[in-house]
Amino acid sequence: MDDLKTLIREVPDFPKPGINFYDITTLLKHPEGLRKVVDAMAEKFKDEKVEAVIGIEARGFIFAPALAYHIGAGFVPVRKPSKLPAECASVSYDLEYGKDTLEIHRDAVAEGHRVIICDDVLATGGTAKAVVNLVESLGGEVVGLGFVVELEFLPGRKKLEGYDVRSLIKYQS
Ligand code: AMP
Repeated sequence: MDDLKTLIREVPDFPKPGINFYDITTLLKHPEGLRKVVDAMAEKFKDEKVEAVIGIEARGFIFAPALAYHIGAGFVPVRKPSKLPAECASVSYDLEYGKDTLEIHRDAVAEGHRVIICDDVLATGGTAKAVVNLVESLGGEVVGLGFVVELEFLPGRKKLEGYDVRSLIKYQS
């Protein structure tokens, strides 16, 4: 999987000074790269018998539906505030650069539903942990979290201790 690093563009000082941004658009436009990533993610979760893959706006929306399709699950969006039309549960949290709030439809996850949470990059883990809390507040069971990229020099995995965290491409610095 590390060969895919050549397809990920690193953009220094984006979106603000000091952040090295891992840009997956260069991977997405590469047919082989895209296929490899989606197939590998599906392989990791294919036996989990999940009802839904939860995608986090915005870049989680790229991978989560593809993963859901592959493993025979549904797709549930977690969105920025005031985007979802029906009754929502919401959570506020800190991220690597700033603060944010996310929402999910209250009827998107039922009590006891097995779900996977999917995003492009695991950085500090604040976003993913917030989504874990959202899902659990609705009675859902988080059976795993899948990321294309993991920044191992940040405490994302530690923040998600106790959960099955799987990533494909890891950066040590
Ligand atoms: P975090 O909550 O810190 O784990 O941040 C996760 C979210 O922010 C993910 O949805 C990523 O898309 C985005 N993100 C955070 N840091 C980076 C980075 N260095 N490069 C690319 N995306 C990032």
